[in-house]
Amino acid sequence: MNNPFSQLGIRHDIVNAISELGFENPTPIQEQSIPVLLTGSNDFVGLAQTGTGKTAAFGLPLLELLDFEENYPQALVLCPTRELCLQITNDLKNYSKNMSNVHVVAVYGGASISDQLRQIKRGVQIVVATPGRMLDIINRKAIDFSQVQYVVLDEADEMLNMGFQEDIDNILSTTPEDKKTWLFSATMPSEVRRISKKYMTDPFELTMGEKNTGNANIEHEYYIVRARDKYAAFKRIVDFNPEIFGIVFCRTKIETQEIAEALIKDGYNADSLHGDLSQQQRDKVMKRYRERSLQLLIATDVAARGIDVNDVTHVINYSLPDEIENYTHRSGRTARAGKTGVSISIINSKEIGKIRQIERVIGKKFIKAEIPTGFDVCEKQLFGLIHKVHNVEVNEQQIEQYLPRIMDEFADLSKEDIIKRFASIEFNSFLEYYKNAPDLNVAEDPRGAREGERFPRTGTRADFTRLFINLGSVDGFGRGDLLGYFCNQTGLVGRTIGKIDVKGVYSFVEVPNADVDQAFNAFKSAEFKGRQVRIEISADGGNESRGGWSNKKREGGNGGGNRREGGNRSNERNGSGFRDFSGKRREDRGERRKRY
Ligand code: AMP
Repeated sequence: MNNPFSQLGIRHDIVNAISELGFENPTPIQEQSIPVLLTGSNDFVGLAQTGTGKTAAFGLPLLELLDFEENYPQALVLCPTRELCLQITNDLKNYSKNMSNVHVVAVYGGASISDQLRQIKRGVQIVVATPGRMLDIINRKAIDFSQVQYVVLDEADEMLNMGFQEDIDNILSTTPEDKKTWLFSATMPSEVRRISKKYMTDPFELTMGEKNTGNANIEHEYYIVRARDKYAAFKRIVDFNPEIFGIVFCRTKIETQEIAEALIKDGYNADSLHGDLSQQQRDKVMKRYRERSLQLLIATDVAARGIDVNDVTHVINYSLPDEIENYTHRSGRTARAGKTGVSISIINSKEIGKIRQIERVIGKKFIKAEIPTGFDVCEKQLFGLIHKVHNVEVNEQQIEQYLPRIMDEFADLSKEDIIKRFASIEFNSFLEYYKNAPDLNVAEDPRGAREGERFPRTGTRADFTRLFINLGSVDGFGRGDLLGYFCNQTGLVGRTIGKIDVKGVYSFVEVPNADVDQAFNAFKSAEFKGRQVRIEISADGGNESRGGWSNKKREGGNGGGNRREGGNRSNERNGSGFRDFSGKRREDRGERRKRY
């Protein structure tokens, strides 16, 4: 009786089954709804996001309440999509795997109706269905709902969004008056309120969190860019998050296809999901996504309904939805089952009003984020690579035979040199790709400035000049060390130096305008640990200094940028993080020529 689910009133064979699924403690919605639903005597409205554990919240009570010695339909679960229908069916089967004679049938479009009819005929207690196919089966007089005791309307807002109101009315008219109705919805628009009034008597209402509030584990961010920079900005966000496992929402099928095609061409691990795909094609895409052999799923709102993949790290609103309500559905695809997630919106400056509206609906503030600079991306990818090298599993047996030759090849290099070279293989490609990458951010204009108007990203005090220097924390510098080094080299006095911003492989130092020449002269032939030290003026928050990365030494480097060009990129598309950049550079250069 110590198990928390037992304490809620769930019998031990179900508790054993869900323990095997890793359910140790009830989620908040389970904790609060199970005791109410177990009484079997209430209508119920649960306002809860997807991913909160609501399937078990209604599924476990159903398994407790129904009479499984009888083989007629006693419960009907209606949900908006085939995906969700299969998921719920599967979950119910898993919860009841230690019980005998439990029959759950999934009824959904796009699959053989005769199989479904056969299963119904054999005897079933729980029918999980999408409304269209359910109605079809009812119209064929192939099912008898006259003894249904419980109807669950799952993701009711989605069903109404999809235009199922009439179908739901027709289906429910075949069920008894005195059945209990349990409605779950992520949001409570007036249509849902209306159906709850229509079908329920004095329902027990449960709101998880604030009314209409999004999942607290989701962080909402927006980026303002010019319309023509949107794709480039999107790619930068993806590049800045090498471990991304995301769903990218577009407004139309065509946009979905275009973005997916462009991404695939650019060497990303992406595919599209939209209404023009056959069920088989949809299944294939979803299978790849679930298995994580796809890193980015580009989808329309309708196609993505019911997607229940856990561990989605990012939802990206490539276009904001037409309906505010859809924003909640989109972002609810991340941060499932207690995880955290980020919902990103890439907007133009005119759309800021929409963000403010969404903030009001979800009751949460967005964070205004900055499109990472080329430097930021390079740094992030570099350390992603370093991390990967550090943690790679070595196949000792296979590598052993080659080791003597490898050691021989490296005999003339120090450990430090070898590390640098390994890191440079990938890093050079990034540097090359991003060396002239412009700042894509557009300042937020409170007066609703016309789209495209740009403001400096960060200001430098008028009497100071911000200098880029190609030394950073990887060279062992903190702010104080860099100040000391800089003053030693230049002869400038520490207290005259402005802000120092130490990054990984570079830093920014503000010096008085009058001292800029002195600093440049001092670094003309300076070296640090055998490497030439360079400084450059960074008038625009460091962006102009990007040219600094294009020095001959790095560019010529070891030719790593070309090494894999045209090679097999599929190895890199394993979702393991570090994406092949060299393979996509050609198109991107073209894109840059076109775009910037
Ligand atoms: P749902 O909202 O029902 O789609 O559930 C979202 C995810 O949370 C699913 O992967 C469930 O298996 C999982 N889940 C549901 N309840 C629990 C629980 N009590 N403990 C751990 N995981 C759960």
